[in-house]
Amino acid sequence: MPIYEYECEDCHKQFSALKSVLNAETETACTECGSVRVKKLVSSFACCSPFGGGSHASGGGFSGGG
Ligand SMILES: [Zn+2]
Repeated sequence: MPIYEYECEDCHKQFSALKSVLNAETETACTECGSVRVKKLVSSFACCSPFGGGSHASGGGFSGGG
């Protein structure tokens, strides 16, 4: 479940909201003043993930022990 970061345009408070894809389109209110004039910030972890999706050729099964 992704965490989106928002910044309130009224009190400029930054907060994060946990949203699922189901309620992602719902309005997010500021946790400080309750204003809905918030803008979504770009998550820092969204890009350049160290875990690149490499296609591993998974064989049958490694037989341990030896
Ligand atoms: Zn606010």
